Amino acid sequence: MAESVPDILHLLASAVSITKRVNKIIRDVMDKGDLGVVDKGKNDPQTEADRSAQKCIVQSLLRKFPGLTVIGEEELSQTYDVPEDYIVQEEDEEVLSKKYPSKYNDISINDVVVWVDPLDGTREFTTGFLSHVTVLIGIAYGGKPIAGVIHQPYYEENGVAVGRTVWGMKEVGYSGFELKQPPADKMIVTVTRSHSDKELEAALVKLNPDEIVRVGGAGHKVLLVLEGRVHAYIVPSKGLKRWDSCACEAILETVGGMMTDKAGNFYLYDKETNYNIINGIIGTLNEATLNVIIKLLKKL
Ligand code: AMP
Ligand code: MG
Ligand code: MG
Repeated sequence: MAESVPDILHLLASAVSITKRVNKIIRDVMDKGDLGVVDKGKNDPQTEADRSAQKCIVQSLLRKFPGLTVIGEEELSQTYDVPEDYIVQEEDEEVLSKKYPSKYNDISINDVVVWVDPLDGTREFTTGFLSHVTVLIGIAYGGKPIAGVIHQPYYEENGVAVGRTVWGMKEVGYSGFELKQPPADKMIVTVTRSHSDKELEAALVKLNPDEIVRVGGAGHKVLLVLEGRVHAYIVPSKGLKRWDSCACEAILETVGGMMTDKAGNFYLYDKETNYNIINGIIGTLNEATLNVIIKLLKKL
């Protein structure tokens, strides 16, 4: 008899399918040309694409998993209408076909928190760096990220922005990218391009890397780590939120990497937690790299 698929895998399969719908929502806003920008704070814009993408993700998940805890970046008005064609019911076949450890059978969806960044890299979206934009859905259980989706709507293949969906689940597998180690003979780091501060510039002096890749988006920078373009993603200051990091941490850890604060401690992702990332982020594939960076940042 075929094994029944645990709910948590259905949740990931739904999240993967939903991001493919969000791809079109984001592109439609851009193609229309009116981004509907609202300033949420200093250097923190929100567009119609952020709002509509979150409506699609949250309502699609809640329709399928009533009572699920979903924490999204955007504050939307209490009641809002969602076009029926925003509701995604499909589930990704590839996710559903995976073998999974029996411990996943015991996970109740009620103990799960889903962290949603409907559009990561909004500053870049509004300024034309479209390949830096991602959609992030992170799934946490018992306060730990266990699965995540990073969808890149404008990922380019042969010069054409076809988009791609990257996902990973611990002890189950990953898809959508080629895992690659970074070059062994140098140190390359990726950092923010639009939220730099004194702390970051001091950290870069201390780290003295061979190359610094300044690009937008947490999801985009983690993709650079996963594909071996850089050794580490570094944020020494506050500013990120858990919807930026949950999916990223889950996928990094699925492939043997790690994401911690700047002292090497893991963040918790339960629903009671404050969403702010106050002690920075280090994301890397390699524990030795993590330890070197922690040591250097300690001296700041
Ligand atoms: P960045 O690397 O600057 O593209 O930032 C990655 C994510 O963290 C984006 O979602 C940003 O909006 C958020 N973020 C980082 N730093 C800040 C900050 N100082 N204020 C507000 N949001 C920030
Ligand atoms: Mg973000
Ligand atoms: Mg966002």
